[in-house]
Amino acid sequence: MIQTRKLAIACPQCGSADVFYSCTPNCCYNHVCADCGTTFEPATTLKGGTISGVIPPEPPPDATDPTTECAKCTSNAVYMTEDGGVVCGKCGAILVLEITEIAPG
Ligand SMILES: [Zn+2]
Ligand SMILES: [Zn+2]
Repeated sequence: MIQTRKLAIACPQCGSADVFYSCTPNCCYNHVCADCGTTFEPATTLKGGTISGVIPPEPPPDATDPTTECAKCTSNAVYMTEDGGVVCGKCGAILVLEITEIAPG
């Protein structure tokens, strides 16, 4: 079993960890940096391979915590492993996090 933690995404512009998700998964993945106002959208690509027995973070992420979508099954249950990897909690796909649509604030 693999214990995971909530996804943590640093601002691609200033490196701040104070980033929040400002939309809903059925719309877009627009995130905003609370420090510099930069907006961006995280996305995932498949790294290859799967992990079985992914344990979701406890407590689970809030609605404004950073989130993204699994490139394989489109689930929002994308978490980080202890070693900083990114994995889908639903299908177990090992993912690579990418930051797209960067718009400096
Ligand atoms: Zn920033
Ligand atoms: Zn998945």
